[in-house]
Amino acid sequence: MRSATLALDIGATKIVIGRVLGERARAVERHDTAALIRRGDWSPLAARLRVAWKPNVRSVALGIAGVVEDGVVLAAPNFPAGAVPRRFPIARYLGRRLGVPVTVANDTECFAFGEAAFGAGRRRRRVVGLTLGTGLGGGIVLDGLPYRGACLAGEFGHLPFPSAATRCGCGQIGHLETILSGPGLSRLYALASGGRVAGAPVVARAARRGDAAAVESLGQITDALAHLLLTVLVAWDPDVVVVGGGLASIPRLLVNARRLVRERTPHPALRRVPIVPSLLHDHAVLLGAVRLATVTHSR
Ligand SMILES: [Zn+2]
Repeated sequence: MRSATLALDIGATKIVIGRVLGERARAVERHDTAALIRRGDWSPLAARLRVAWKPNVRSVALGIAGVVEDGVVLAAPNFPAGAVPRRFPIARYLGRRLGVPVTVANDTECFAFGEAAFGAGRRRRRVVGLTLGTGLGGGIVLDGLPYRGACLAGEFGHLPFPSAATRCGCGQIGHLETILSGPGLSRLYALASGGRVAGAPVVARAARRGDAAAVESLGQITDALAHLLLTVLVAWDPDVVVVGGGLASIPRLLVNARRLVRERTPHPALRRVPIVPSLLHDHAVLLGAVRLATVTHSR
């Protein structure tokens, strides 16, 4: 029997679990994060992994929405307060309970790596991945290897953005993630509508019906996405930019942002860089986490 890796995508809202064999994720299941991580108690997640276990599982690879170093989560500001303990040694925690090696990486880095290896970035040398969800993440893959700089390269959520006035999860004010994210869209809609409360999918549907506040707030995040894409193009001049995450599935968001990028790009050559949606959707982090573990360990 071929050995498999149990792969996880641990986001602030949703957890995806699947068994990865080669280029495929199988038996993929999706859970609300709140159902498997309860106020810092990760034992429901460990119990769920035992249910998903099969005799050919030899390792666990996971991507998590946070800053990760050596199997330890250093910061995870998008999770509810207390969900992720301070300096949480997640690899050791799960490794002890499951009895196999556990590798950990940032979720967007896994996303970019999965798309670069098997998805929309296949056969491209310089790939930038962006995930628009509860937070705004970025990952850079150069010649099949992750590029992290000293540690944090690609944390595009914390780019300065002039109109951002809300405090970011990192503690600073004026960061792009507070606009270009699910909570960001909800906040913009509340401001534009005189206090109406709605999640990103509801705002997107309201915009399709012509609700003026929804159209305006969606226009603002389209502009913010164009700003991010132009920043990425100018800073990296990549071969492809792959955009995923729940917010990216809002109809025409990417198409409209791409149009603004074409209009505003400072050099005609940058207009040719493909800006494409994810091909692997919620399998990207699973496949990327497993592939990244193989590449990182073989270096
Ligand atoms: Zn920030």
